[in-house]
Amino acid sequence: MTEQFSLKLDTPAYKGTLSINTGLFINGQWLKSVDPEKLDVVNPATGKIITSVEGGCSKDIDIAVDVAEKAYKTTWGLKVPGSTRGQMLLNLAKLIEKNTDELAALEALNCGKPFGQAQQEIAGCIKEFKYYAGWADKIHGKTIETTENKMAYTRHEPYGVVAAIIPWNGPLTMLSWKVAPALAAGNTIIVKPSELTPLSALKFASLVNEAGIPPGVINIVNGTGPAVGEAMAYHPRIRKLAFTGSTLTGRRIQEASAKSNLKVVTLELGGKSPNIIFDDANLEQAIKWASLGILLLAEIFLQCKYGLSMLRRLSDFWFAAAAHYLQQNTGDPFSGKALHGPQMSSVQFDRIMGYINSGKTDGAHVVSGGERDGNEGYFIKPTIFTEVKPSMKIAQEEIFGPVGVVMKFKTEEEVIEMANNTTYGLACGIFTENVSRAIRVAHALEAGTAWINNYHTVETMVPFGGYKQSGIGREQGEYALENYTQVKAVHINIGLKL
Ligand code: NAD
Repeated sequence: MTEQFSLKLDTPAYKGTLSINTGLFINGQWLKSVDPEKLDVVNPATGKIITSVEGGCSKDIDIAVDVAEKAYKTTWGLKVPGSTRGQMLLNLAKLIEKNTDELAALEALNCGKPFGQAQQEIAGCIKEFKYYAGWADKIHGKTIETTENKMAYTRHEPYGVVAAIIPWNGPLTMLSWKVAPALAAGNTIIVKPSELTPLSALKFASLVNEAGIPPGVINIVNGTGPAVGEAMAYHPRIRKLAFTGSTLTGRRIQEASAKSNLKVVTLELGGKSPNIIFDDANLEQAIKWASLGILLLAEIFLQCKYGLSMLRRLSDFWFAAAAHYLQQNTGDPFSGKALHGPQMSSVQFDRIMGYINSGKTDGAHVVSGGERDGNEGYFIKPTIFTEVKPSMKIAQEEIFGPVGVVMKFKTEEEVIEMANNTTYGLACGIFTENVSRAIRVAHALEAGTAWINNYHTVETMVPFGGYKQSGIGREQGEYALENYTQVKAVHINIGLKL
């Protein structure tokens, strides 16, 4: 018997009982690991352990692959019409909707996301399952005329057993970006959540049977990267793997694919996404979006060609005011008013503080924040650096924390070069009232997403993914279906002659 975890919460934002099974979800059942490793799950707002969950091993992945393969061949895949798969995804969407608050509370507790933000993310997951439910019976190939007596057609067939490895910063969002298109296309899937944030995925697993999804189609195996993630990356019968996480781990996963069965790998990796504000921008709007971006990991480039000192004062004022506002609203994810919670883990807290200290040592100017917040948990005050030089570490490396790094530029050509001078290419923002310039710069920047007069907009129907070392392949929208299907060409001889 696997263990049940339950916790009663009575907070301003959420009142209710959280309850999950802490085992491995394989073949529609809760199982213990063949070689168990307990994973402690920590509340980042307090630094205290919430509970522990079952961590798996490579033998559990062998078992999961066996059942996922059997399900693919018998109760899913090409055996089931797309419309039936779509109906089951819709059932799942409805169950997620019914459990929104409990799922959001689990993410607030485990990831430190403010409860309201977590609710919005769960709403995004519901959209994801509904969107791909609609696609499930619309995946088809083409008819191609070849010669007078021959023709060909293509089929977009599923791979079979696919896998997903998830990071800690969007446990259910990243899960739904992978599970929904994979199932719509007819694959069965094994998911490994981050060992730091396994709770909401376990609640999600408890909805799968109720949605009518056959056993073995969705399997959730918690565990560490070395114990479970690597076993998935090297597994010879997993045909495709979708990964979101750091560039370092992404590289290892590609290597594992090359050394095992050349499984198709898609990667969503790190970023250093510039937010370029030209001095003809609507500054009030631009700075609001940029302030949001500080929480969403932006670099900020400010044009200072004209009215240099005026813009400097303006930027310092706005950023300081915005950071101050965020600091006032940094706090307990369940307070009902926090806009920003703690960092995810002590490791992440130390990393971000390391970058803040390096910015100070390198001579950047701290406009706001720059220190930890309180003595409990992993809170950091949202931080703004100005006077940043492109050579500084804070300008070069991904910080992945609430730290805005502001650099100045004079010309369009100069900022394009500055923004492209990175190994990453996830996204970029451009603020200007000049439409020609907006489009020109969006096309010149080496990034998978360009936001014009907005920042960090992500929509279910629009592809998302990185250029350069920010990733390979696209998630979201119709493009994601390409990740989960392979094309078969069938040639037909109509004339029957050689
Ligand atoms: P991480 O790479 O440390 O871990 C991600 C996942 O990989 C975890 O589930 C982990 O257990 C697993 N893992 C670790 N080592 C492994 C191995 N050797 N083989 C297989 N799996 C392994 O990343 P993280 O710290 O969880 O997440 C933060 C990173 O994710 C940041 O760099 C961030 O930029 C990136 N990220 C990118 C996007 C995007 O859309 N591009 C979205 C979210 C996060």
